[in-house]
Amino acid sequence: MRLDAVIFGGGATGLWLLDRLSRDGHHVVLLEARSLGAGQTIGSQAILRRSRSSTSSSGLANRVLIVPHGLPSLWRDALLGRITPNLTHTRLRADCCHQWYVESAGLRVASPDNPLRPRFDAETLPPEERPSALADVSGPVVRLPEQVLCPASFIADLAAQYHDRLLKIDAERGLKFHLNSPGEVDAIQLASPFDGQKLELRPRQVIFAADADNARLRRAVGLSEPMQSPRPLHRVLARGRLPLLNGNCVESGRTIVTVISDVDANERTVWQIDGRLAEDGWKRESYQQAERVRQELTRILPGLNLTQAEWSTYELDRAECDADTGPRHDAVSVFCAGNVTTAGPTPFMLAPLVSDEITGRASSPYITTPFDPTPLANWPRPSIAPLPWNEEHRTWWTLGDQPSKDQQQPQRRAA
Ligand SMILES: Cc1cc2nc3c(=O)[nH]c(=O)nc-3n(C[C@H](O)[C@H](O)[C@H](O)COP(=O)(O)OP(=O)(O)OC[C@H]3O[C@@H](n4cnc5c(N)ncnc54)[C@H](O)[C@@H]3O)c2cc1C
Repeated sequence: MRLDAVIFGGGATGLWLLDRLSRDGHHVVLLEARSLGAGQTIGSQAILRRSRSSTSSSGLANRVLIVPHGLPSLWRDALLGRITPNLTHTRLRADCCHQWYVESAGLRVASPDNPLRPRFDAETLPPEERPSALADVSGPVVRLPEQVLCPASFIADLAAQYHDRLLKIDAERGLKFHLNSPGEVDAIQLASPFDGQKLELRPRQVIFAADADNARLRRAVGLSEPMQSPRPLHRVLARGRLPLLNGNCVESGRTIVTVISDVDANERTVWQIDGRLAEDGWKRESYQQAERVRQELTRILPGLNLTQAEWSTYELDRAECDADTGPRHDAVSVFCAGNVTTAGPTPFMLAPLVSDEITGRASSPYITTPFDPTPLANWPRPSIAPLPWNEEHRTWWTLGDQPSKDQQQPQRRAA
């Protein structure tokens, strides 16, 4: 089958790009080795940030997220269906985030050169307008116009629109590249992971958007590995009768905790907790990690009742450009060699920029007839990755229980 492009990886980057190339008239398909979003996207906080620094565990503000002017409104327009991609079926977890300060002098502590200082678009809230989780916080609380998406519904939204262009592959045993020279792919041979069907794709362009697996794919086409330095995280989940909260806590000019909430199938509120303790928590066992987070939440959220909460933890690596050689801000990084393009690690919300960068370099569609998916009709399709708290084998416990052996070992998710 002749194609303009083949994309590897169905996370935020690959799916946004699939939409863009398809709308531009390209004959393009997306190959997914696990389930859509299974790497970073499904576990993302998915905050459509305006700007923010992130801090290393050494305490230095080492990366600054530069969000181009206009990008948050582009997302808003897509969510409202005013532009393409049409994301009207993507669920918002929250229409804004809250930022709360531990010290009552918090707003003053944030100095003018501190990227965490209150911004012109932050609105300080009077006590009666605070979310209930922040009712007893002694420091100031501000509202930020940053929307929070449900990444699973974002994936489902785009997957439904491009179902006939999504193919499940077996990247270990059912994938072979035929090269004209290193980085110059002539054909991709696929064997179905389930029924032995075979398919040959002959793309003009190959795009790797498979995050951590980009390195392996690049090796397979004779290219060197991109510079990446994964940041290990030990994340904590809490569920139960918890108030909804989306935002982060700042202490001494640093973000120390971020909480994102959702509601599970049993109407329990689930908190996904990140921040300083997730970054240095990879050294701790699950039970210890959850206990440290519980103590921290009790300190920074006075009045919060966590006695009935159930806890779980898992480890994953957050992909980032190499800290020494990569950009000091989360710029879009795209590497081209031969007919292979590799998308470097990029925040969820910058997916439209990665698409612009890649489509800006792509030549016009080569095949002029409309895309005909008939040869792909019987090929298996990828499923959507479950949200971390819906994973089948996840173990939960209440603090104070005697931890079992399982609970002491963090669960590991491939990222
Ligand atoms: C804890 C955490 C919080 C975050 N919070 C935010 C936030 O608030 N805002 C924000 O903008 N960003 C955030 N991010 C970053 C953001 O989630 C990611 O950068 C983004 O989702 C990356 O998307 P991706 O498509 O490049 O990669 P991924 O989501 O990892 O997708 C890669 C896809 O490739 C597939 N794949 C793997 N190997 C192969 C192969 N060999 N062949 C085919 N397919 C393959 C995987 O299964 C997966 O579906 C966060 C990330 C983490 C980890």
